[in-house]
Amino acid sequence: MEYRRLGNTGLKVSEISLGSWLTYGGYVEENNATASIDKAYELGINFFDTANVYMRGEAEKVVGKALSKYDRSSYVLATKVFGKMGDGPNDAGLSRKHIMEQCHASLKRLGTDYIDIYYCHRYHPETPLEETLRALDDLVRQGKVLYFGVSEWTAEQMSEAVHIADKKLLDRIVVNQPNYSMLHRNIEKEIIPVSEKHGIGQVVFSPLAQGVLTGKYKKGEAAPAGSRAAQESIQSMNHVLTEENLEKVENLKKIAETENLTLSQLAIAWILRQPNVASALVGASRPEQLEENVKASGVKLKEETLQQIEEILSI
Ligand code: NDP
Repeated sequence: MEYRRLGNTGLKVSEISLGSWLTYGGYVEENNATASIDKAYELGINFFDTANVYMRGEAEKVVGKALSKYDRSSYVLATKVFGKMGDGPNDAGLSRKHIMEQCHASLKRLGTDYIDIYYCHRYHPETPLEETLRALDDLVRQGKVLYFGVSEWTAEQMSEAVHIADKKLLDRIVVNQPNYSMLHRNIEKEIIPVSEKHGIGQVVFSPLAQGVLTGKYKKGEAAPAGSRAAQESIQSMNHVLTEENLEKVENLKKIAETENLTLSQLAIAWILRQPNVASALVGASRPEQLEENVKASGVKLKEETLQQIEEILSI
C-alpha cells in the first residue's frame, strides 16, 4: 500500500480507504463487516470513513468496535455531520449546536477521544458559514477533531470557506469528499482546480460507482444475488446501471484485461492518476473484494492506456 499526503497537511493516508455507507451496520452482517475492516487494516489501509447518519449511528458503532483492537495512532478515522439524526428542528444541519452535539455523540458511538477528519456532509444554506467554521475550529482547539473538510460542496462554497477562515484566522478546510469515478467526472472542471489552489485534497467516494465498475452487472441480466443492486432495503441503483454505462464497462473491461488488471483495479488506478486525489474511498461487502482492490495502489497507467480510456468514456 502506498500513502499520500492529504492536501497540504502533514497527514498521510492510504491511497485506498474503506467506507461504511449502506454496508456496515446495514446490509453487511457485523461479522463480515469486522472481517472486512480487519482485512483492510492487514493490507495496509490506514484510513476508515463513516458518518453519523449512516444507519443512524449504527455504522459508527460497528467501525469503532472493529478498530478498537488496534493502536489508535495507527489509523485515520473520519466521520461526518449534517444529516438528519432526529425529528427536532436542531437535529440536522451545520449549526454550532448540532455540530457540537453530534461530535460528542459520534465520539461516543466510535468509542474514541478524537476524530481525525470531521466532514460537513453537505452545505447548509441556513447556517452562516462563519458559525460552522468557528464551531469546527473550536473542536480542533479542544482536541476533539484534528482536521476538517467538506463533502459535495460547490467550488464557490469551498472558496468562500477558505476566504472566511483566512480573514478570521480560523483553521481551513483541508479535504473534500466528492463522488468521482470513470462514470461520474463532475469534479474535474472546477473542484480540482480550486482545491489545488487552496491545498485541499480529494478523498473520492464511490470510485467503483457502487460496484458497477467491477463489471459484475451486465446488460440485460438481473443483478447478481447478494450484490448491492439486488438489495431490497436500499435505494435503486438504476441511475448508474444505465445501458450507456454498462456498454462503457464492457469496453473498459477489455482494456483492463490487456493491462493484466481487473476492472476494479483499473478504475481505482485511473482515479489515482490525479495527484490532487489523496485516496480512493471504496466500500466492501467481503474481505476478498479488498484483496483485489488494494492491488491498484501503486499502479501507474501508461499515457496510451489513459488515452484509450478517455476515448471510451467520451462516447
Ligand atoms: P464503491 O464504488 O467502492 O462501491 C462499493 C461496493 O462495490 C461494495 O460494497 C461491493 O458491493 C462492490 N465491490 C467493491 N469491490 C468489489 C470487487 N472487487 N468485486 C465485486 N464487487 C465489489 O463505493 P461506495 O459507493 O460503497 O462508497 C464508498 C464509501 O464512500 C462509503 O462507504 C462512504 O464511506 C463514502 N460515501 C460518501 C458519500 C458522501 O456523501 N460523502 C456518499 C457515498 C459514499 P456488493 O458486494 O454489495 O455488490
